[in-house]
Amino acid sequence: SLRRELIANVSHDLRTPLSSMQGYVETVMMKNNVLNEEERRQYLQTILDSTIRLNKLVQELFELSKLDAKQTLPKPEPFSITELVQDVTQKFQPQAEKNGIRIETKFAKDLPFVQADIGMIERVLQNLIENAIKYTPANGKIALMLERLDRKLTLRVSDTGCGISVVDLPKIFDRFYRSSCNRTTFDGAGLGLAIVKKILDLHGEKIQVESQENVGTIFSFSLPLN
Ligand code: ADP
Repeated sequence: SLRRELIANVSHDLRTPLSSMQGYVETVMMKNNVLNEEERRQYLQTILDSTIRLNKLVQELFELSKLDAKQTLPKPEPFSITELVQDVTQKFQPQAEKNGIRIETKFAKDLPFVQADIGMIERVLQNLIENAIKYTPANGKIALMLERLDRKLTLRVSDTGCGISVVDLPKIFDRFYRSSCNRTTFDGAGLGLAIVKKILDLHGEKIQVESQENVGTIFSFSLPLN
């Protein structure tokens, strides 16, 4: 069952960083007198990384369960998606730069407002951009495009990353599903896209994906105009 699967996955994802934290804290305490500054800093950094991962996991689980239980329902309001895209992009700029990735935005001025839950759509954008950064190697590019089609606006997030294989493609929106491209830092729980899909479901919209391995990926979705 979904519940059993959830518990199995979560216990594993909780156990690993928790054991690592316990181990490192014990080491720091035991070797307290022999550790030099740099070693101490490294151990603490590892512990910090684990707490960040745990926090993110718990946060995402909480978010998903509230969405599932319909405890958080979309409160649609008119807003400028252009401005939202620009705000979110700006927030990710330092992280992108650090990874040697350029983020481009391409859209017409004075696009009409959409009607959607602004906080939830912000979340969708964050998750898609965060993934694009995570799965794109240095010197890559991420592009955000907005296009009007009839009574809807379509947003596309494309990257020049490692892409997703045809085998993985149908599964990436499943909870806890993650695959291994570019995975040197193992930090995701595989919940980001499940949250994206759930939010768009609640808006009556679909998330679409096209991808080619070692070329890149495009995620897209539409929102109704106000
Ligand atoms: P994760 O925490 O692993 O990023 P997500 O639910 O956000 O979890 O994504 C699920 C999986 O989909 C990822 O593990 C990765 O394999 C794949 N994926 C998502 N976005 C991209 C992307 N932009 N490029 C390549 N692969 C991606």
